[in-house]
Amino acid sequence: MSVVHIVGAGLAGLAAAVRLAGAGRQIALYEAANHAGGRCRSYVDATLGKRVDNGNHLLFRGNREAFGYLKTIGAVDRFLCPNEPAFPFVDLESGDRWVVRPSGLVPWWVFSSSRRIPGTKPADYLAALRLFVAKRDATIAETFADGGLLYRYFWEPLAVASLNTSAERGAVRLLLPVVLRIFGKGSEAARPMIARDGLSESFVDPALNYLQQKGGQLHFTHRLRAVAFADGRVSGLDFGTRRVVFGEKDRLILAVPPANAGDLLPGLATPKEAEPILNAHFDLPEVPSWPHEAPFVGVIGGLAQWVFLRGRIASVTVSAAADHIDKTPEELVPKLWEDVAQALQVTSSSPPPCRILKERRATFSQTPAALLLRPKTRTQYANLFLAGDWTDTGLPATIEGAIFSGHRAAKAAMQLS
Ligand SMILES: Cc1cc2nc3c(=O)[nH]c(=O)nc-3n(C[C@H](O)[C@H](O)[C@H](O)COP(=O)(O)OP(=O)(O)OC[C@H]3O[C@@H](n4cnc5c(N)ncnc54)[C@H](O)[C@@H]3O)c2cc1C
Repeated sequence: MSVVHIVGAGLAGLAAAVRLAGAGRQIALYEAANHAGGRCRSYVDATLGKRVDNGNHLLFRGNREAFGYLKTIGAVDRFLCPNEPAFPFVDLESGDRWVVRPSGLVPWWVFSSSRRIPGTKPADYLAALRLFVAKRDATIAETFADGGLLYRYFWEPLAVASLNTSAERGAVRLLLPVVLRIFGKGSEAARPMIARDGLSESFVDPALNYLQQKGGQLHFTHRLRAVAFADGRVSGLDFGTRRVVFGEKDRLILAVPPANAGDLLPGLATPKEAEPILNAHFDLPEVPSWPHEAPFVGVIGGLAQWVFLRGRIASVTVSAAADHIDKTPEELVPKLWEDVAQALQVTSSSPPPCRILKERRATFSQTPAALLLRPKTRTQYANLFLAGDWTDTGLPATIEGAIFSGHRAAKAAMQLS
């Protein structure tokens, strides 16, 4: 029986493996690290003495590829998912607090002053139509920056959160699928989902269990060093201490980040520039009483952009964090704590125990120019397929994009006769 070899056990590789194993295909999954999950994982942090995530991850019910994956691995119930979509925000400069409550297939909610962003008018939301006509090389700021409050309170935070790239540089083309999948499909699609216990418990461990049950081979601490080619096909894999020789019908799905793929496949053009994300986990003295509507709050006008709550742990996200990634914890913690304390209305003068996490290459910079460098699933080699959030999915580099890319690669691998 032919084997589909999948290299990289991030969400793209896991999604490909799950799809193939579910279709009765034999798979072998190889991962350089001693754990799966890649950029979406949990671990025990020595500073806090607690299990934490490598960074806050937000998903929506409308992320249909991700939701399908979670259903297959039996993990849908491993998420906190408010019954109604509600997005609490605070503006640290003005002190204003509000909750955006998108609802209904037709966005009637923009006509309700209690549901829309304060200070905005229903007509302001018509600007969303520009997403359909924006030029391919336009940025988010070029498209929406004349939008006043709606730009500051909606387009800019949405851009930074979904593209991990500043609105001045981010490609507007990537926002249309986000808006359509999350806000254009009714309130069910807009319900946020947050891993209940941890990213690994929700996205990764159930997938590994599923693969094991299906007889998949899982190989950790296997870093692919080189790919061998013969007659326009992949003929083998070199892991240093181990070599795999391909049978005639074997296939390879390469689901590694762009820099690794570029090293393994000389001549492959990949997006080179990466954007960092900064996360800080604060161990609060007690569980805060706000927000009630959701286990997170969007923060405007501070260094912190989002604060997620899991019990007493308040986790702060700073996306597109190039200006801050080289700062020391001594510089970052007091400022972030000031933002968190104000956002959560916690009275405490000195920061509680805190762990700063830096993901320097969290995603590629999702600029209009970089989109031209995203490769397709199929390659010049008949039995080699690419997956990863950076490949040409038409979606931003997110969980949804990564899982979609894995599903597409699995489909292409199955179509090869
Ligand atoms: C801090 C942070 C916050 C984020 N927040 C969100 C969010 O809120 N919502 C959202 O949707 N997305 C978010 N993302 C993005 C999301 O995590 C990624 O898009 C997704 O996890 C990428 O999955 P992937 O499989 O494409 O890549 P990766 O997770 O990078 O997986 C690639 C795997 O390949 C392995 N590998 C590399 N080279 C080799 C080799 N030579 N041999 C074998 N294995 C190799 C790596 O070790 C890794 O495990 C966030 C990312 C970060 C870092």
